[in-house]
Amino acid sequence: MPALPRRKSIPVQIGAVTLGGSAPVVVQSMTNTDTADIEGTAQQVRDLARAGSELVRITVNSDEAATAVPHICERLAQMNVSVPIVGDFHFNGHKLLKAHPACAAALAKYRINPGNVGRGSKRDTQFAEMIEVACEYQKPVRIGVNWGSLDQDLLARMMDDNSKLAEPLDAQQVMHEALVSSAIDSAARAVELGLAKDHIVISCKVSGVQDLISVYRQLATRCDYALHLGLTEAGMGSKGIVASTAAMGVLLQEGIGDTIRVSLTPEPNGDRTNEVIVAQEMLQTMGLRSFTPMVVACPGCGRTTSTYFQELAKNIQTHIRHQMPEWRKQYIGVADMTVAVMGCVVNGPGESKHANIGISLPGTGERPVAPVYIDGEKGPTLKGEHIAEEFQALVEDYVTRTYQRKQAS
Ligand code: SF4
Repeated sequence: MPALPRRKSIPVQIGAVTLGGSAPVVVQSMTNTDTADIEGTAQQVRDLARAGSELVRITVNSDEAATAVPHICERLAQMNVSVPIVGDFHFNGHKLLKAHPACAAALAKYRINPGNVGRGSKRDTQFAEMIEVACEYQKPVRIGVNWGSLDQDLLARMMDDNSKLAEPLDAQQVMHEALVSSAIDSAARAVELGLAKDHIVISCKVSGVQDLISVYRQLATRCDYALHLGLTEAGMGSKGIVASTAAMGVLLQEGIGDTIRVSLTPEPNGDRTNEVIVAQEMLQTMGLRSFTPMVVACPGCGRTTSTYFQELAKNIQTHIRHQMPEWRKQYIGVADMTVAVMGCVVNGPGESKHANIGISLPGTGERPVAPVYIDGEKGPTLKGEHIAEEFQALVEDYVTRTYQRKQAS
């Protein structure tokens, strides 16, 4: 698949992770633990990192949270987790960063929301204080504008100016312009204060799909900062996934976006790592990056009257995800593998031939045999009680035979 053209952005180094420039789109996530809970937060960061999050953001909202940050980083080092940690600051960020130098030093990047750094005359000084700390510790900053906390003075001024125009824009267009201006003007202010351009990332998060597309298209043409992409308050379950994918898919296709976060609301006691898997699957299904072998499965229909086919597809997917951390260490290119699990022989063999390895289970009324295709060629035909286990073994065998082993370092 030919590579999609990417917008040129200024690369930003965050620990060992490069964001922007020609680097691949980076997946990031955010914890929902109380940051003051050192062990709970470290464990969730570890889980997110193990799921594939390449940056993890944590809330730093109190003295207790700021005190915990260096201990969280130490605990992660003990667990052999090296993911860069980003601190999310709002109204009291200027105070916390100055009062807790160990926190300022331990974080790999700061997120600052220009709409939430302080009200009125305090806003500029408090923003400046945070940027000064970033300069002192040489930390990159994301200037993260959010439509829910957009600088209301700026918006009111722009609405007022707009009303005096001969052909005023509609309120939504003014809001978009206010978001983009807030981000770009804040970045310009940070540069004036001494922050290097290669230490700046920008985001303008909104919760509407069309709004996000419009705002980021404007950002992309009006600056060359690295862009963090994400739909804020995307929601829960399929709605959150669909809305995030619809918005970010369009922008990524246009080469816009250097890092993504999928802001899913987890189910009660749900797994926070889902947002990482969704982000990875978005990038992988678009052909932008490979993280884990893809399982291609048909939706099933009246020909698949048992749940056997769904169970096999699920088990293979789970098995591959489980094996991937080991495979990744041992084999080069295994993340590019595709495995087809098809419900019958109508489309099964055709789809299987396009996959690296594929199986077509017997549909209703078909002979109880499951032909397997390997690299487009007819392989063994499985039958009997143990089709699932035998197919899993064939996938394992395919990986060990096909992908080059990495050299031991
Ligand atoms: S491959 Fe067979 S079982 Fe699957 S959707 Fe197509 S016809 Fe139905």
